[in-house]
Amino acid sequence: MIDGFGRRITYVRLSVTDRCDLRCRYCMAEKMTFLPRKDVLDLEEMVGLADILIARGVRRIRLTGGEPLVRKGIELLVGELGKRIGKGLDELTMTTNGMQLERYAAMLFDSGVRRINVSLDSRNPERFRHITRHGHLAQVLGGIGAAAAAGLSIKVNMVALRGINEDEIASMLRWCASQGYGLTLIETMPLGEVEEDRSEHYLPLSEVRGRLEREFRLIPSLARTGGPARYFEVEGLGVRLGLITPLTHNFCDGCNRIRVAATGTVFGCLGHDQKVELRELLRTGGTEAVNAALDRLLAGKPKGHQFRIEAARPAVERHMSVTGG
Ligand code: SAM
Ligand code: SF4
Repeated sequence: MIDGFGRRITYVRLSVTDRCDLRCRYCMAEKMTFLPRKDVLDLEEMVGLADILIARGVRRIRLTGGEPLVRKGIELLVGELGKRIGKGLDELTMTTNGMQLERYAAMLFDSGVRRINVSLDSRNPERFRHITRHGHLAQVLGGIGAAAAAGLSIKVNMVALRGINEDEIASMLRWCASQGYGLTLIETMPLGEVEEDRSEHYLPLSEVRGRLEREFRLIPSLARTGGPARYFEVEGLGVRLGLITPLTHNFCDGCNRIRVAATGTVFGCLGHDQKVELRELLRTGGTEAVNAALDRLLAGKPKGHQFRIEAARPAVERHMSVTGG
């Protein structure tokens, strides 16, 4: 699959549900309305779509959400997709909040998953609860421990939030290093209405990098993992630091991905409304119709996002949990 700007699409993020057992303040409103179940693809439809995408050259699939591990039957989906690894698919990964990870870690490994991203914005229990509104830090740390014990390689995702967790970034980096985990920092993106004004807690990673560089030597690394992060090796710590900087540094030129929402809507870009609807085509239209819709998506895939944190309204109306972060 090659888009109108010559970019090869080999990576798909598949949101398996828009639901979540947490309500992180930057991500969701406290009282979120979730999709009616009939609007969500069933697991067979997701596998069918994955097969079409793999046949068209997709090599990596990341399961995300909402929270992928609250989707009923997630083990069946992971098991099925895991069977495609080595047969068209190079890698199956997941981004999770870790709340259900203790229960599912071994299943993920046994199905062929080798790397996961776990979101962890604070290692302070009260602060963690404040950010996530419902989260239990101990439960997430238990999940991360179980995942590591099961053999999964772990990268911690931390959204950098001014006035909330900025004082913990260096200690998170040291902790990740001590555990053998990677750390990726993310700038808050203006996606969907939440109760708070995101610009209040927006912390540019250019600023964070400057602060970290007073303490650590960051050596730019050429490593890529198929995502938009830029990586640095932290001298002396043996940890890889990733920076996802949609606002301070645009990475769209190298974009290799599309995003499938749980409804079967496929978005060309996280920061745009450009999309095609595949649900009905998957249910009644057949492979050719799905492929024709994917061609339309590729032809119209935007050149890049236009996030602006200071804008009065979010760049796009939908929340990150819909498109899959
Ligand atoms: N529930 C899973 C989790 O939290 O890891 C997967 C989905 S979540 C939407 C994926 C990632 O997006 C998380 O690391 C989360 O912190 C991040 N995220 C959510 N909303 C965001 C926003 N508005 N700006 C930046 N990152 C966001
Ligand atoms: Fe749920 Fe992940 Fe959004 Fe937090 S960031 S509310 S865990 S989907």
